[in-house]
Amino acid sequence: MAVAARLFDGKAAKARDVFLTLADGQLFIHDTEGALLGDWPVSELYDENRPTRDDELNLSLDHEDARLIITDVAFIDVLRRLCPHLHKRRGGPAGWWKPYLYWGGGAVVAVIVIFTVVLPLLAWQIAYLIPTETQAQIGQETRDIFIKAIAREDGTKAEAVVCRNPAAEAVLERLVTALAAADGEENPVRKITVVKTKQANAFALPGGQLMIFSGLFDISDHPNGFSAVLAHEIAHADHNHPMRLFVTNAGVATIFSLLLGDVSGGTLLATLGQMTVGSGYSRDFEREADRSAIERMQAAGYDISPMVPLMEKLAKQTPSSGFLSFLDSHPGFDERIETLRAAGKTGGAALSDEDWTTLRGYCG
Ligand SMILES: [Zn+2]
Repeated sequence: MAVAARLFDGKAAKARDVFLTLADGQLFIHDTEGALLGDWPVSELYDENRPTRDDELNLSLDHEDARLIITDVAFIDVLRRLCPHLHKRRGGPAGWWKPYLYWGGGAVVAVIVIFTVVLPLLAWQIAYLIPTETQAQIGQETRDIFIKAIAREDGTKAEAVVCRNPAAEAVLERLVTALAAADGEENPVRKITVVKTKQANAFALPGGQLMIFSGLFDISDHPNGFSAVLAHEIAHADHNHPMRLFVTNAGVATIFSLLLGDVSGGTLLATLGQMTVGSGYSRDFEREADRSAIERMQAAGYDISPMVPLMEKLAKQTPSSGFLSFLDSHPGFDERIETLRAAGKTGGAALSDEDWTTLRGYCG
C-alpha cells in the first residue's frame, strides 16, 4: 500500500514524486521506480507547517533538511493518530534521558519485556477474544484498502479491479471447500476476492477473507500448484494467523477497544491491517501453514509436487513498487521448498483441464 507524496531532498530545488509506505513504526520513502530513498522513524517526524493544516503535512526529521509534502488526507489522519505530537520538536537538550536511566531503568525493562515477550504470547489468546464481527470488519477494511491501492496503481476504479466470473467463482468455491474440509473442521474461509493485477500473490486477511491476485493464475502452470498455495492460505485463516499478527502489531489501546468491539477510527484500523500484511508472518506460521497445506492436499487426494516449481517462480519475482511480494509476506523460501519436496509426489490433479481453464480465465 503506497501513498503518493512529494519530496524536497534539501539539495535539488524541485520536489520529486515519491511513494510512502508504513511498517514497523517507520515511514518508508520510495521513488517512482520502487527504489528505497529513506526510512523515517514515525516517532521522530515533525510537521513544519505553522499553523498546522488539515490537508497537508510538511514533514521533516529534526536532523535532516529533507521535507516530505503529504496531501493524502486519509494518510495524514493515520500519521496524526500514530504520532499525536507531530507539531512538537522532540530533540530536547543532550543527556535529558540520563536521570531516567538511574531511577527509571527497571520500569523501562518491564515495558520492553511486556512488548517483546508477553504481548506476542498473549496475541494468540487475545486474537480469539476479539468479537467475530470486529475481526470481520478489520478484514473488510483491509480488503478495501488493497483494492483501492491496486485501482490507484492501475489508474482505474476500485470496482474495475475486482473480478466477477460466476463460472470461475463456482470452480474456486468447490476447490476451497474441498481443501478446507480436508481437516474435518468448519471452513474458515468467509469471503474470497480475486483482483485483476499482473502481480502473483495470495494472502489471508482477518475475519476469514482471502485475496488472490490474478497474476497467480498466470504464473501457475498446473492447477495443483495454485491449489497448494490456496491450501496454504486456508491454513493461515484456519490458524487465525492474520488476526494474531494484527494483535501483535496493534498497540495496547487498540487491543482494548477491539476487545470491546469498538472499530471506530476506521483509517487507523485499516492501516494496522496493512501493517499486519506488510510485516509478514514468522517462519513458525509459515511452517505451520505448509504442514497443514500438505495434509490438506493429500487428504483431498491432490498431488502437491507442482507447488515446488511454482514456489521457485514466486521466489524469483521482483517486487513491484508499493506492494509486498509473495516473498516478503512468506519468509523462508528455501526451507519451505525443501519441506515441499520431501512431501513427494502423491495423488492426482485438483481440477479437470476444463475447470482449470475456467478458473485461469477468472479475470478474463
Ligand atoms: Zn504463508
